[in-house]
Amino acid sequence: MNAPVKQHLIDPEICIRCHACEEACPIGAITHNDDNVVVDMEKCGHCLNCIGPCPTGAIDNWRVVDRTYSIEEQFEWMELPEQQDFAAENEGGPALDEAIQNLLNEAHSGAGGATRAPQSASMPVINQHMISDPVKGRVQGNFRLTEEGSGSDVRHIIIDMGDHPFSILEGQSIGIIPPGFDGAGKPHLPRLYSISSPRDGERPKTNNISLTVKREEHGICSNHVCDLERDDEVVLVGPFGSTFLMPNDPDANIIMICTGTGSAPFRAFTMQRQRTAPDLANKLMLFFGARSSDSLPYFGPLEKIPDSFLKKVFCLSREPGEPKKYVQDGLIGESAALAKLLEEPETYIYICGLKAMEEGVETAFGEIMSKAGRDWHKIKTLMRESGRYHVETY
Ligand SMILES: Cc1cc2nc3c(=O)[nH]c(=O)nc-3n(C[C@H](O)[C@H](O)[C@H](O)COP(=O)(O)OP(=O)(O)OC[C@H]3O[C@@H](n4cnc5c(N)ncnc54)[C@H](O)[C@@H]3O)c2cc1C
Repeated sequence: MNAPVKQHLIDPEICIRCHACEEACPIGAITHNDDNVVVDMEKCGHCLNCIGPCPTGAIDNWRVVDRTYSIEEQFEWMELPEQQDFAAENEGGPALDEAIQNLLNEAHSGAGGATRAPQSASMPVINQHMISDPVKGRVQGNFRLTEEGSGSDVRHIIIDMGDHPFSILEGQSIGIIPPGFDGAGKPHLPRLYSISSPRDGERPKTNNISLTVKREEHGICSNHVCDLERDDEVVLVGPFGSTFLMPNDPDANIIMICTGTGSAPFRAFTMQRQRTAPDLANKLMLFFGARSSDSLPYFGPLEKIPDSFLKKVFCLSREPGEPKKYVQDGLIGESAALAKLLEEPETYIYICGLKAMEEGVETAFGEIMSKAGRDWHKIKTLMRESGRYHVETY
C-alpha cells in the first residue's frame, strides 16, 4: 500500500462550473471537460489560491487516499466518492479511530442513536488527520472570554493551519493531542473540541480555526490549551463529525440550545449565516444557559447581534438579583413561537453542551407540544429521521 496522501477534489454536485478556481490556480492544476471541473494531483501544489474565489464551497473537499484519483476518473463523477475508512487500516489508526468514534457516539447518544446529517449540509471531510498523521497548527491568539472571578475560565483560541489543507464545516470537532504521557507511559489520547469558526476561517478566506475551551481543574488537555500562547505549536487530529452539521438551506429555521462551551458550534453557525445570508430575519434562535452573564462565553458580541437575526434567550441560574433561570425555563418562555416552529419542515434543533441539560430540554419540549395538542415524541422522531434533530453533549 502507498503512503496516504490528501487529495483535493471538487464536488460535482455543488460546483456551478464558473471556472473561478481554474483561473485562480497559478500552475494550471485545475482543468475541466464538458462535465466536471477537476484538480490534477500530479500538478497541485496545495497553495490554496483556488479556495477563495469558489462561490459555492464545492472546492472545499479532500479525501485521504492511498491511490490518487486520476483526472479521467474525476471527469466521470456525478458525486464525490466516500472517504474510505483508510486510517483504520494503518498502524496507530484503529485504537484512535475507535476511541474518537466512541467519544462522538457517546456525545451524540442524546439524539437517540445513529442520526443523519441535514439534507442540505455540505459533505464533510472527516478523519483527514489521524494519530499516525497529526497536523501541527500555530496559535494566533488566546483570549479569555469569561471574567476573572466568575468561577469559569473559558478561552477563545485561534489556530493557524498554515499551508496544511484543513477543510471543516460548522458543527465539526477536532482533536488536540496534549504533550506528554499518561500514567501508563503512553502518549495522551486526543480530546475533542468543537470548532467555533465557520468553514472559511475565523477571518474570512483564511486557513485558521477557532476553539472555545473551558479550563477543567486538573484537566490535562484543557489546561494545555488554555495555557497556549501566541506562536505555540499545537498538535491536532481531525476533523471529525458527519451528522451534527449546519444545513446550507437558507430557509432552515435553526433552534440552538446550549450551555457554556456548547456555544462553540453555534458561534460557527451564526457566523456562517452572517457571512452568507446577512439579510435573513427570524430564522435563528439561541437558548444559552450559564451561571451568570460574566461566565457566559461571547456574551458581549452576542448582545450586539440584532434579535431579528438571532433571537437570544439568555438563561442565567446565578445572576445577582435575578430569579434562577435554566434553558428549559427559557424554552417554556418561548412556547408559542417554538410550537409554531416545530410544525415547520424547515426547522432544525441542535443541543450542545453539558449532558445534564438534556433531561430539562426534553421535558420542556414535551410540555410545549402537549399544550399545543401535539405529540413531541412523534415530532422528534420525524425530525431525527430527517436529519433535523441533533444532540452533542459531553
Ligand atoms: C464531541 C465533543 C466536543 C467537545 N467540545 C468541547 C468544547 O468545544 N470545549 C470544551 O472546553 N470542551 C469540549 N469537550 C470536552 C473535552 O473534550 C474534554 O473532555 C475537556 O476539555 C476535559 O479534558 P481534559 O484533558 O482537560 O481533562 P482530563 O484530564 O481528561 O480529565 C477529565 C476530567 O477529570 C477531572 N480530573 C482529572 N484529574 C483529576 C484529579 N486529579 N482530581 C480531580 N479531578 C480530576 C478533570 O477536571 C476533568 O473534568 C468536548 C467533548 C466532546 C466529546
